Amino acid sequence: MRTLTQIIPSMPTSDGAGVKLRRSLGSQRGFQVDPFLMLDEFYSDDPKDYIAGFPAHPHRGFETVTYMLDGHMRHEDHLGNRGDLSPGDVQWMTAARGIIHSEMPQQSQGRMRGFQLWINLPANEKMKPAHYRDIPAQQIPSVRLSTGASVKVIAGTVQLDGQSVTGPVNGPDARLSTDPLYLDLKLPAGVGLVVPVARGHNAFLYVYEGEATVGEPPSAKALPYRAAGVLSDGDSVHIEGGSGAVQLLLLAARPLREPVVQYGPFVMNTRQEIEQAVEDYRSGRFAA
Ligand code: MN
Repeated sequence: MRTLTQIIPSMPTSDGAGVKLRRSLGSQRGFQVDPFLMLDEFYSDDPKDYIAGFPAHPHRGFETVTYMLDGHMRHEDHLGNRGDLSPGDVQWMTAARGIIHSEMPQQSQGRMRGFQLWINLPANEKMKPAHYRDIPAQQIPSVRLSTGASVKVIAGTVQLDGQSVTGPVNGPDARLSTDPLYLDLKLPAGVGLVVPVARGHNAFLYVYEGEATVGEPPSAKALPYRAAGVLSDGDSVHIEGGSGAVQLLLLAARPLREPVVQYGPFVMNTRQEIEQAVEDYRSGRFAA
């Protein structure tokens, strides 16, 4: 059984043209779970907090995954891809050698809520062509268990109640060598769930509603609201809702164990590669 080994609180920050968000992974050096580099949660009912969006900006060397809970955003990139993100939709963007895109709210009022996750790429995939996929909510399987718990499978395959459920983003088909598992879990008050997670893969949880208890006595620990919980290795994790319902993300993937050199939206293995990315971007060769 996996246990909670570290709690990474989320810190208020802003990004893009002033979008207010909370950053857990990626908020400080060492607050990463290889290959996961960053997790942002954006959540506001006030348009001032999100209206400016994320105008055109580059990425190189990793993947960005946006999961919308509420609101409407539009992505446009230099390759001509254009996609609308509505509640429950996911955009999985493998920036690799380079993408220049914008992510702009398509609403002037109401709630905007969701997550952006950054997943690193191995050295030999950082300079591959960019790859983009839009995943509408209807393509994401949602499993309701006999206990009342429900699980959405965005990426990977998981065994639940004796059935195997595979999300729309998965292993060889999606060419993701980190083999990520991305689940969105909802547990009613006091309901427990054991989720198998491949041994050797790094894993963490992020609670976005209520609070959870992770692990089994005597090693059970509380994971508070809006915090990421890093898990030890093992075959599975036991999660339990608190006094109210809990909603959380579970992320797991094969670690890369490679040097990480990050400069803003560029994540490479060496300083030279970062300098090259900056130079390519300045000279307009980035998007070629
Ligand atoms: Mn972006």
